[in-house]
Amino acid sequence: MEPNKEYLTRVEGNEAPTCLCGNQGHRGGYMPCDANGNEADVGIESGWGNPPLYACEDCGRFYNDEDPTLEVLGRNPNPTRLIDVED
Ligand SMILES: [Zn+2]
Repeated sequence: MEPNKEYLTRVEGNEAPTCLCGNQGHRGGYMPCDANGNEADVGIESGWGNPPLYACEDCGRFYNDEDPTLEVLGRNPNPTRLIDVED
């Protein structure tokens, strides 16, 4: 753990971690994303999943789900969506 970095936390037994913003899987949730924090297509042909990156739906922080430290890799508060959901 490095002091200048941020890390999500995972409660044992929970599939989704808890983000620094307080988001959890059953709240805002997480979406698969690319290395820039934009929503990723999880189709086999897209190549997503190596590593499996997920972004917080609330604050845009994203992490590698295979990294046991759940280090925040970056933050994209305004990610590109595969399907635009207009209000
Ligand atoms: Zn968050």
